[in-house]
This record gives sequence, C-alpha cells and structure tokens, in this order.
Amino acid sequence: MDIDIIELSERKARFVLSGVSASFANALRRSILAEVPVLTIDDVNVYENTSILFDEQLSLRLGMIPLKTDIKSFSLPGECTCKGEGCPSCQVSLTLSAEGPKAVYSGDMVPTDPKVVPADATIPIVELKEKHKVVVEAIARLGTGRSHSKWQAGVASGYKNMPVVTIGDCDSCGKCVEVCPREILKLNGSKAKVTDIIECSMCRLCEEACDMDSIKVSSDPESFVMTFETTGALSASELALLAADSIKKRAEQLTEIIGAL
Ligand code: SF4
Ligand code: SF4
Ligand SMILES: [Zn+2]
Repeated sequence: MDIDIIELSERKARFVLSGVSASFANALRRSILAEVPVLTIDDVNVYENTSILFDEQLSLRLGMIPLKTDIKSFSLPGECTCKGEGCPSCQVSLTLSAEGPKAVYSGDMVPTDPKVVPADATIPIVELKEKHKVVVEAIARLGTGRSHSKWQAGVASGYKNMPVVTIGDCDSCGKCVEVCPREILKLNGSKAKVTDIIECSMCRLCEEACDMDSIKVSSDPESFVMTFETTGALSASELALLAADSIKKRAEQLTEIIGAL
C-alpha cells in the first residue's frame, strides 16, 4: 500500500491510496465517519432558561458543537473503570451562564478542562433578549458516529477511483482541450497532454470530442483519491491515523473470534 499526500491541513486531507482494494478504501471512509471516538455534549443540566428556545432545543444545539478532543485523556464510558457511572476519566463538564441582551456563542462556554474547548468559538447557540437568561452545565462524553451523528469526527469523507487518461495519435486540433470542464487538458507541442489527472471527473467528453478516437478514459481499480474533513474535534492527521488503527483493531478481533471457533 502506498500513500501520496496531496493536501493536508488542520481540518482537511486529500491523498492517493494505491495498491488496495475498493473494500479497504470504503472501510477507511466508514471508519473516518463512524469509528473514531470524540467528545460531545451528551447530558445537559438546565438550571435556568428563559430564552426563546425550549430546554430540549437548547440541549440539541449544545450537543452539535464539536469539542477539541484529547483522545488519550478519556475513556469510552463503557470501557471506563467506573463502569459508565461517570468519573473524570470518562466525562468532562462545561458551563454556560449568559444574560441578555446578547447573542450567545460556543466560545461563551467555560470548560472545567482547559483542553476541552469548542473547536470553533463562533457557533451561535441562542439570541437572548432583554432579561432572558441561560444557566446550564453540559456533560461531554466520548462516543462514536456509529451510535449518533453528534459524535461524528469526520465529515464529507469520500473517494473515487484514480482516473487514467491515455492519449494516442494526435493532430493537435484542440477539441478535447475546449470541452474539458476541469480544464486539465492542454496542447503541449504537437500533442494534447493531461496536466492534473487527479482533477479528472471521468466525464468522457474528451473521448467524444476526439475525431481520431485517440483518447481513452478509464480508472485504476487499485488506486483511490480520498478526501475528508474534520469537525475540528481532531486534526485531519489524527483522524486518519485513528481510523486506520480502528480497522486494524477490529481485524485483529475478528481473527481472534474466528480462531476461537
Ligand atoms: S474525462 Fe472529462 S474531466 Fe477528464 S480529461 Fe476528459 S474531459 Fe477532462
Ligand atoms: S481531440 Fe484528439 S486529436 Fe484533437 S487534440 Fe485532443 S487528442 Fe489530439
Ligand atoms: Zn469513568
């Protein structure tokens, strides 16, 4: 297996995965979406709420705020020594106390652990009018996207087969260059050339435009262009490594189960 990184920033990754099957690429996509645990608000104690939102609506909004997650500091409630009753190893609280008139944002939440903060400080929670007040304590726990989308660490995770465009005899008529919607075909001397194959959408318009039948568009069955973004709870590199680790652990578990049969 080879990995060729095209783009890697704090919240987005794009890379070419070669020498793997489509099932493995799909397993990685699914693992990014559903198998990596992150902290999310799971319980809310509402002490005062005179805003226009019902307690349930307010709690739902709080649950959708991505929280920066230091995965090594917390355990999943079901795997914690407290057996899920709740302790500093499996849960952390944030408080919110605000009085109108003002717009309340995620950045107004005060964490008890300074590392567990909202990934973005400008997510709107509620607009408080004169004399409106909100006082809540929110409890965050680890969970995975498999049980609820609020624990989804990755978003927009997808892949496509690596496109392959071959160009044979060419009279430089330029018709394929004109029709390519991604503008990745260029005339180079006496022949058309592909400038950025990863951007090819495999629309085959170039094939249809070529009177000489010189262009062939296909795909590599063992090479995939993968893209995903994060909610900000984890960095893109952390998420990719944890997703791959999750596949490895589950494969090992499966081997153990089959071995014990
Ligand atoms: S298949 Fe479509 S996107 Fe790809 S090179 Fe041909 S015209 Fe351009
Ligand atoms: S359409 Fe065919 S002949 Fe014309 S430039 Fe493209 S590849 Fe060459
Ligand atoms: Zn615990």
